[in-house]
Amino acid sequence: MAGGGAEPLPALVNPCVYIARMPEDQPETLLPDDNGLARAAVLLGQGHVLALPTETVYGLAADARSDMACARVFRAKGRPRFNPLIVHLQDIAGAEALAEVCSTARDLARAFWPGPLTLVLPLKAGHGLSPLATAGLDTVAIRVPSHPVARAVLALFGGPVVAPSANPFGRVSPTTADHVRQGLGGAPAAILDAGPCAVGLESTILAPGLSGIRLLREGGLPSEVVEAMTGPLIPDTAPGTVQAPGQLAGHYAPAVPVVMDSDLSEHAAVRIGFTADQAADLHLSQSGNLAEAAARLFDVLHRAESLALARNEPAIHVAPVPKTGLGRAINDRLRRAAAMRH
Ligand code: AMP
Ligand code: MG
Repeated sequence: MAGGGAEPLPALVNPCVYIARMPEDQPETLLPDDNGLARAAVLLGQGHVLALPTETVYGLAADARSDMACARVFRAKGRPRFNPLIVHLQDIAGAEALAEVCSTARDLARAFWPGPLTLVLPLKAGHGLSPLATAGLDTVAIRVPSHPVARAVLALFGGPVVAPSANPFGRVSPTTADHVRQGLGGAPAAILDAGPCAVGLESTILAPGLSGIRLLREGGLPSEVVEAMTGPLIPDTAPGTVQAPGQLAGHYAPAVPVVMDSDLSEHAAVRIGFTADQAADLHLSQSGNLAEAAARLFDVLHRAESLALARNEPAIHVAPVPKTGLGRAINDRLRRAAAMRH
């Protein structure tokens, strides 16, 4: 496992903590028991990356203060470096140590943390984060996850952790440990396996500011739920200064082309329906429940990809879901999967 010296040392590495992984190493599988959680915290402290469950998707976790650990996340995912990462913390107090938390941000954090909400906030001087985590911006994206395993690892590690989705850049996000193994092979030092993720969609990203609260990404916290508390959000989901990976037109994509198709009329394809009423190979939710559809979305896309490859079908056709609540984030992911050029 860890040990040996085949991998060249990146320039920024502190040799005291760097332990090289051999290319043929497979990730350790860790269980969410005392031993597994302790091992995860040790690996993070040694500058390794490991896959860990959150309530949204499995994240590729690393020490947010370490250039070397963050660089390894970008390398494992093949993710462009202009994309900042989300910093995961235990609580609001942790956020206040790194960033300016205005009263709007504090209200949002009190209402929705821990949970699938990320806040983009101005960095404080002396924050100590790697510039790779923030892509050199003067803001930082912060989330306090609710998954008990993610929380336990954060508590044991005691520092900020970046954790973008544990999949190759541009591909379908992982909601099980198997998805991570299939996508990333031996890249993570370990995978902490705690079963499927409950929410199944990435976090909703908000940027509170003087002119209102901008909605940067639809996600696992439906925007209506936020708006019931704050009033209307300012939609800002088009790619801008920060080219969010999840905002790129082609993203979340299986290896087989995806087509949005409301009547699933194409039979020479793997078909994904929303409810049991639609004739299809796979369904997001038999009963039409959007929370279930969100939790199953990425697993169904992974299954559709395997089916299409096994049956030699040229495409995956998927019906859109209703445009309310989590449905907007689901349709957003499907549209981006369909926009990928193969
Ligand atoms: P994920 O890929 O789920 O880890 O989400 C990372 C996304 O968070 C980025 O692609 C951006 O959309 C967003 N993000 C992170 N940091 C910032 C920031 N400082 N300003 C704006 N958006 C950010
Ligand atoms: Mg992702």
